[in-house]
Amino acid sequence: MEKLDAPVLVTRSSLPPLEEYVDMLKPIWDSAWLTNMGVYHEEFKEQLKRYLKLPSLELFVNGHMALELAIQAMELKGEVITTPFTFASTTHAIVRNGLTPVFCDINDRDYTIDADLIERLITDKTCAIVPVHVYGNVCDVEKIQKIADRHHLKVIYDAAHTFGEELDGRGVGQWGDVSMFSFHATKVFHSIEGGAVAFKEKNLKRRLYQLKNFGIMDSETVEYVGANGKMNEFQAAMGLCNLRHVDEAIAKRKKLAMRYRSRLEGIQGIRLCSEDPRVKYNYAYMPVVFDGYKAGRDEIFQALKEKNIHTRKYFYPCVNSYECYKGDFRPEDTPVADRISKQVLTLPLYEDLPVEIVDMVCDIIEETGC
Ligand SMILES: *Cc1c(COP(=O)(O)O)cnc(C)c1O
Repeated sequence: MEKLDAPVLVTRSSLPPLEEYVDMLKPIWDSAWLTNMGVYHEEFKEQLKRYLKLPSLELFVNGHMALELAIQAMELKGEVITTPFTFASTTHAIVRNGLTPVFCDINDRDYTIDADLIERLITDKTCAIVPVHVYGNVCDVEKIQKIADRHHLKVIYDAAHTFGEELDGRGVGQWGDVSMFSFHATKVFHSIEGGAVAFKEKNLKRRLYQLKNFGIMDSETVEYVGANGKMNEFQAAMGLCNLRHVDEAIAKRKKLAMRYRSRLEGIQGIRLCSEDPRVKYNYAYMPVVFDGYKAGRDEIFQALKEKNIHTRKYFYPCVNSYECYKGDFRPEDTPVADRISKQVLTLPLYEDLPVEIVDMVCDIIEETGC
């Protein structure tokens, strides 16, 4: 097999036709209103509420600020039970709020938090659970809610990977006290950078709104130690454009994901995430676990790289192995997460990925190892 001339990356941002975005710019110039909850901001929020099937939503400049400020808005103290098998943002948002993360292991089917292990980690300091719908795999939301109710804990979902997903026909953001969505350029749906918080409790609306605007209540009163987390009009315009095309983008991804599945399913030593029939997926990622395959994860990564195909060891290392948290946690306490992080590889998957590349990736995987 020949090395590809142009590199294939693990993802590539979807973009609307350029004219569509340019058409959106004129009103911004006419009004000279560039940020601070402008017309597009409000329009984007309304359209998102409908699309995501959510009663309430606040927009943010990015997913991380959305999560960090959502946690701040809950006014918590103490320990937070969360997963180490995630992006840096989840844990950083907890720590930057002065809270202590307590890592719970993941399950071996879909790599979300193992709900059966949560209760034994609860102490009298525990205030919340922060699970992640990792790779778009929806957590065991019912079991998690029961535990939270029993122990009076808040549930804050990192739903960065689950844009547009539904469980039993309900928007996935309807579970938990709050859910954070990310609209980063590399996600299924984006507003260049961007994020949102879905919430239930009515008085969170005002608090979230103020927290993203320096905690300002009115021109003479600053009520909270807030930050600057506002989404600007250029982001909202991109979001509005992309929202028109997102169903088509997800349909294209689904076809490619199905192709990967049909090629890789049933191969000895290769594991794909199990799919839950209750969930409508968005096909954000294509994680593959090499467990007893004739080649190891790093060997496959290297073989693909030599052909100019760049996969990601997503998520490796686990957060509890990060340099910045050195000495604070023991990765041995979450053995499944530790093992999966060393076996998983996320394959290229994006809207306009040619199916020939999918086949080439699968051929290389089949031919690697002896
Ligand atoms: C992308 C991502 C975030 C952060 O979102 P940004 O919009 O990039 O700030 C948080 N958590 C997870 C799991 C993510 O993948």
